[in-house]
Formats: sequence, structure tokens, C-alpha cells
Amino acid sequence: MSRYSVTSIVFLVVFTGMLVVYKVFTIPIAWIIGLVIAYLAINLVGSFYLSASYFVRVISRGSPSSGAISITFDDGPIVGKTEKILDVLNHYKVKAAFFCIGYRVQQNVSLTTRIHNEGHLLGNHSYWHKNTFDWQSAKKISEELKETDTAIRETTGRSPLFFRPPFGVTNPMVAKAVRQKNYTVIGWSVRSFDTVIKSKKKLFQRITRKLKPGDVVVFHDYSDSMLAILPEFIAHVPTLGLKIVRLDELLQANAYE
Ligand SMILES: [Zn+2]
Repeated sequence: MSRYSVTSIVFLVVFTGMLVVYKVFTIPIAWIIGLVIAYLAINLVGSFYLSASYFVRVISRGSPSSGAISITFDDGPIVGKTEKILDVLNHYKVKAAFFCIGYRVQQNVSLTTRIHNEGHLLGNHSYWHKNTFDWQSAKKISEELKETDTAIRETTGRSPLFFRPPFGVTNPMVAKAVRQKNYTVIGWSVRSFDTVIKSKKKLFQRITRKLKPGDVVVFHDYSDSMLAILPEFIAHVPTLGLKIVRLDELLQANAYE
């Protein structure tokens, strides 16, 4: 049972109890309003705080005993950007995971094939990645995920099991869609903020200052500041006594059907 289900049951029990007490003993109505606001606030935080596993189980890190970290790239493949990332990864012989947007996979078949052929993982990151993704019905979300799976399968021959929710947002509809295929929902433990941090020095400091075994770092294909520090970052990780391994190895989980 999800934390959302448990919270909802507790809320309903307490809410019903308060209504009875309100009728019989006239408690302040503000108590009941406060309870409803608290319930809504918990759900809101649960939507945006992916690693809380509130609506669905989310894996945000690997084992601390792994002695390793993984790096992941969201929102690609993007011609003119992703190739440069692949060149750096190849140079350092590092394998990464790419959480791809379905329509971009279909538009960039040869680039997607290159990601796969060079030994990197492909994960599902929705088909359109629109702002309205989370507002759709579970059926619509499920269809989007299937379309992305199909795009990846038709390109690489493999159907992904790893799904990273767009914007890191989950809710009951996303949770229901995810359960239909039993995806492993992937979060992160190190959020680089590479789409907003333009300073190379600040970005490097942010992702390295607390890096520890088991960490999953999230980058974005289109970040120029990330690309600028990627070689330095990859070279720095071993100096912390850490390896960089592919996400499925770090999590000891199957990335494909
Ligand atoms: Zn994204």
C-alpha cells in the first residue's frame, strides 16, 4: 500500500471522527478545516518530492556499499547536444543512462541508435514531456508511456523498464499508469540544477561537494554548463574513491523487459 493510501485512510478516519465530535461536542470548525489543509499540503509535497515515494515506490539511489555512482541525462536525444555528451563518455569509457522523450527518439533515430550501440541505457521519460503531463488521466499517461516504449523498442530492439517522471512529479494518475507495466520509477539523489546554474564553478561544486557512494546524478542533454564541466567531473569522481557505473548495475535492477 502506498504512503498516499495510508495517509488518505488515516485522514478519512480522523475527518469522520472529527465530524461526529463536531456535531456532539461542538469543537471549533477551524480544527476540521486545519485537518483538510494539512492533508492537501501533505499530498502537494508528496507530488513534488519524488524520493518520498509517496504515490509510488521511487528508487533514487543505489547501495552505499557499491562504492559507485551513476550519471543520468534527461530530455534527449537532442541533435547537436547529445553527441557531445557521448564523445566525452566514450573518451572516459563511462556508461550512463539517458531518459529519453519519445517524440525525440522518433525524430532522432540514428542518434538514439548511437546511444544504445555505445553501451548506454535508455529509459522512458514520457512521449511529449508537456507541462500538462501530470494532469492527464491514468489511461492517457499509460498510452504516452507505451508510445515511448515503442519508439525505443523500434529503434534499439529493447523495451525499457526504467521510467523517470517528467519534472519529477507524481500523483495518483501517474502511479496507476506506472503500475500497469510495473515500471521501476527512477529518481535521483543529486539534482544538479544544470538547467539553471550557468556558472561552471558553482555547478561543479554543487555536484561534487557531498557526492557519496550510491548517488544518482541527474543532468540534462541540453545544458551547456553541464557539458563544459562533464570531463572534469568524470575525472574527479575516482579521486573521491568512487567509480561510475551504469544505472542498472548500481541499482541491481533490469533496465529492459
Ligand atoms: Zn525532463
